[in-house]
Formats: sequence, C-alpha cells, structure tokens
Amino acid sequence: MPDVADVPDVPDVADVADPTDRDTAIALDAADPLAPFRDRFVLGDPELVYLDGNSLGRLPASTPDRLARAVVEEWGGDLIRGWSRWVELATEVGDLIGVRLLGAHPGEVAVADSTTVNLYKLAVAALDARPDRTAIVTDDDNFPTDRYVLQGLAAQRGVELRVLHTDLDAAIDPAAVAAAVDGEVALVTFSHVAYRSGALADLPAITALAHDAGALMLWDLSHSGGSVPVGLAEAGVDLAVGCGYKYLNGGPGAPAYLYVRSGLHETLRQPIWGWFGQRDQFAMGGRYDPVPGIGRFGTGTPPVLATYALAEGAALVAEAGIDRLRAKGVRQTNYLIELADAWLAPLGFTVASPRSAAHRGSHVSLAHPHAWQICQALIDAGVIPDYRVPDRLRLGPAPLYTRYVDVHEGVRRLRDLVRAGTHERYPTRPDRVT
Ligand SMILES: *Cc1c(COP(=O)(O)O)cnc(C)c1O
Repeated sequence: MPDVADVPDVPDVADVADPTDRDTAIALDAADPLAPFRDRFVLGDPELVYLDGNSLGRLPASTPDRLARAVVEEWGGDLIRGWSRWVELATEVGDLIGVRLLGAHPGEVAVADSTTVNLYKLAVAALDARPDRTAIVTDDDNFPTDRYVLQGLAAQRGVELRVLHTDLDAAIDPAAVAAAVDGEVALVTFSHVAYRSGALADLPAITALAHDAGALMLWDLSHSGGSVPVGLAEAGVDLAVGCGYKYLNGGPGAPAYLYVRSGLHETLRQPIWGWFGQRDQFAMGGRYDPVPGIGRFGTGTPPVLATYALAEGAALVAEAGIDRLRAKGVRQTNYLIELADAWLAPLGFTVASPRSAAHRGSHVSLAHPHAWQICQALIDAGVIPDYRVPDRLRLGPAPLYTRYVDVHEGVRRLRDLVRAGTHERYPTRPDRVT
C-alpha cells in the first residue's frame, strides 16, 4: 500500500498554521520547490482559479513554438523525409512517460491511439492469452469508457463480466477482488485512481491477487500517471493504459499510452493488425508479422503533431519529478480538505474522498445536495471545478502549476457563494445528466 510515509517532506498543514489564513497559503507557496513550474505554463486570465487539471492539463508555454517548428520545419521543409524521425516518436515519448513517471523499464510503453482504443486492444490481447478462461473482473466505479469497452467485449466474446461494487467514496476493496478471482478469470482490470472520488487503489496487492489466480492485470492510469508514482515494474503489472491530456498536459485529444510488461511482448497479440506493428514495415510484406517489442501494439499512422505536444507536457512533468509532484499533491489535497472542514462543512458539504492521503490521488470530491447548481455558480465566479454524478463537486489542484493561494481562493469563493445562496438562482440539474 502506498504510504504517506513514503512521501518525503509532508508536514500536516493543520500542525503548521491556521489553514483559513491566507498567509498560510502564501507561506506554503514560498516553501514549494515546484512553484517555479507555474511560469512554464500559459496562465491566461489571472483571476481564473483552475482546479480541473485532472481533466485537461494546462498548455505548457513551450508547446506553441514546438508545434510551430514541427509544422513549418518538419512538415513544411522535411516533408516525407520527416518519417525517419517521426517513426521513433511513439516509443521515445513512451519511454519518457514509462521510465520517468510510471516505473516501467525502457521499451515497455508506447504512445498510441486513445485510452479507450488501447484498453480494448490490451483487454482482447489478454483474453486471447488465456483462451481457456471465460471471465473478466472489474468494478462499478470504473471510468465509463472502461465499463463500456468491457461490456462490448463481453457481448462480442461471450465472456462473463464480473462487476464488483466499490463504495463511491472509497478505494477498491482487495477482499472483494480476492473473492471474485478464480481459475475462470482471464483478466482483472481497474482504474488506479478513481475518477470521481480520487481514491487510490492498492495496486501491488490487487495485482498480486490477479496473479495468484493466474489472471492478467490491466490498470487504467489516466488519473494517476503524472501525479502518483505507479511502480509498474516493481509490482509486476502486466498491462496498463493512460491518458495524455490530463496530468501530462498533452492538450485536448492528445494520444494516450499503453504499457505491456516486456515478458509478454512475444506472446501477446492485439486485435488490430496494423502496419505500424509490422516487422520491416516498408517492405510491404504479404503477411502480418508483428515486431517483437512494444511496437507490435501500434496500429496505424501515429498523430505526429499531437505527439510533439504530449512530449512537451510530459517532459515538464518528468522534470518536476514524480516524487516531488506526489509530495505536493498530498500536501495540497490535505490543505484543501482542511479548508473544506473549516469553511464548507457548516454549509452542508462533506468530503467524498478518502481522508487518508495514502489512499487518495491528487483530486478531492465534495458532496453537496445542490452540487450541480453550485458547480454552475462557481464557474461564473471564476473557479473551474467539475461536476460528477450524483452530487459531487470535483476539485483537482494539479500540483505542477496550482498554487496554495489558488486552492485558498477557490474554496473561499465557493464558501462565499453558497453562504450567499447565489447557487439557488441557477437551474437544477437537467434529467439527462445521470
Ligand atoms: C480520462 C479517462 C479516460 C479517457 O479515455 P479517452 O479514450 O481518452 O476518451 C479513460 N479512462 C479513465 C480512467 C479516464 O480518467
């Protein structure tokens, strides 16, 4: 189990000073070793408090130039000759993400497709690797696209989908996993950090449970990659996928990444037999014969320009260092919870994320019966959160560029508008949002 004790230098804010005093936030920013990274991003409106970096990371200041160079020099000047360099991008950027952020070995991560498509490819590969087994295990709190992909697979392949129940506000229960995995299970798959509550699953323990039953383990790292150390190789994880536009700041629609443990490269085969997985691709051979490495999980021509943008965003995360990001994420979400307890609990809010930082990623959910209206009012007050069903306000202070004063200001504006009843003037939640 990841433990706060593993995270260097994390004093409890409450022990230090009054969290509601703005000077406390100012002091925390002054002591923050990651503070200089904020200026490496395009900040836009200085009054805007952006607490949704876990949904769409900010634009790195270097990305527009990098893209302009790629367009003008490489596309405009090099033309087709650019492929001699572009063809390596998916694995170069994959190593940047995999080795520096996810604890994978070199050659185990590639950038490709969307998270959804990668999940499908790896889940099918896992089922095909266990042809005598007929079940997949996941949970009902998994991200929607993951659940849909698995439902589709179950329908297409006639396999049984075992959906565990996970408490909306808590991490996946390893005891429930242990009870659900047996010799019929080919694949166990969960999200590492829950998209709504921010609960952090016990990745090593659950991976071990899957392995004890002879199943393959596939993690979705979309909400942990770039904010929480993952330790893929150390835990012996088989497969993983994750998103490029959240904590990795790759921009809207950034390509995703996939990880396959090197010991599985030779035996696993994904369902989309495209030419970008083919050995000696430009020989245009007659039969599909995939390369032996991570490249065999590629499909078609990769999005070169978008991959350059992802490289800029991921490089900043790697430069900051995942351990320092985790330390700040712990401290900053602790701070947010301290403020919520002091200011928001009296207004009917409850913390809907694990209170222990060891069981939490880098975002915090707050429950309130009028969360939908409050969310709309908060956006109009210049604070960007997320609404999540049924009654959750999700606040994601991405540690790479969010200041403690932003957290203080965001929660203060939230308190003020609910105290004034401003949200009551907003329409209630439309029925179609379920
Ligand atoms: C954001 C997210 C995705 C996104 O999938 P796309 O294919 O990029 O739309 C998938 N899984 C999880 C857990 C996510 O948080």
